[in-house]
Amino acid sequence: MTARTSSVLLFVCLYNKKRESNIQLTPSFFFSWKQMESVSFPLLSRVAICGGTHGNEMTGVYMMRHLQKEKIDKIGSVSVSTVLSNPRAVEVCRRYVETDLNRCFTEALLNSPVTDSTPYELRRAQELNAQIGPKGSKEAVDLLIDIHNTTSNMGLCLIFYSIDWFTLHILKYLQSKMTSVEVRAIQLDIPISEAYSLESVGKHGFAIEVGPQPNGVVRADIYNMVKEAVDHVFSWLQEFNSGSTFEEGEVEAYTLVKSIDYPRNPVTGEITAAIHSQLQDNDFKLLQRGDPIFLSFSGETVKNRAAAIICRGKDMRAR
Ligand SMILES: [Zn+2]
Repeated sequence: MTARTSSVLLFVCLYNKKRESNIQLTPSFFFSWKQMESVSFPLLSRVAICGGTHGNEMTGVYMMRHLQKEKIDKIGSVSVSTVLSNPRAVEVCRRYVETDLNRCFTEALLNSPVTDSTPYELRRAQELNAQIGPKGSKEAVDLLIDIHNTTSNMGLCLIFYSIDWFTLHILKYLQSKMTSVEVRAIQLDIPISEAYSLESVGKHGFAIEVGPQPNGVVRADIYNMVKEAVDHVFSWLQEFNSGSTFEEGEVEAYTLVKSIDYPRNPVTGEITAAIHSQLQDNDFKLLQRGDPIFLSFSGETVKNRAAAIICRGKDMRAR
């Protein structure tokens, strides 16, 4: 097992309930924040949907192929760009070919000079930035949705950077419409210039991460869950662009506290344990101090030594 394939981590999220009250999004593209303090927003008329940013996460790959075959370029009032982000990685059904495309969208990397030694994915990131960005500019698409899969049992999760009223309202809308699935959110607290993933190229953006789905496999239930979510996002956009009023509300978001690496052989670095069966598939459930986390291959249980936390058992290569 190489160093890269052994980079399997336990992702730990502190349950951090962020209460966003008194938020209203009004037909004139305002939202109200306490005492009717308001900010104006323009229409969301240009949207990019991306899949295959990781070439072995098949929901987005098949969705892009389908949308491109159907030549979908407009849904209601919204013009739509469908993007197969990493075609070379898709071709070989691997996460990436030379470097992780979804770590290439920092401002520094997007503006770095291209040389003979520039990895394919960094070139591709700069191409995508020219096509649906540039990041941070007024030419960038209004909303960028990037579809990912994970091997972990996390249901449907929006991942986004800074607090963004559009994303919060879309999250609330999805939660109200998709009652048979848990719709959650993770906020990555990283400045947008340092934000490394594709959704940071849009004026607004989020990743939809859905699992469990093995890499290289397409499951109908997962595909349909994402299709339903995307359909709802476009319904919300139609409502917003046509002037509906959105009620104030609350949403919850998780934030990352830390990652816990697998137990390893100190000499070889090889992983010496698997996720414990009591934790496996129990993403987003409260893990108490003393609860099992890992089971070593010699049968020893490794317990949680921290205070109660919410865990997400995750293969780091799955996002
Ligand atoms: Zn991914």
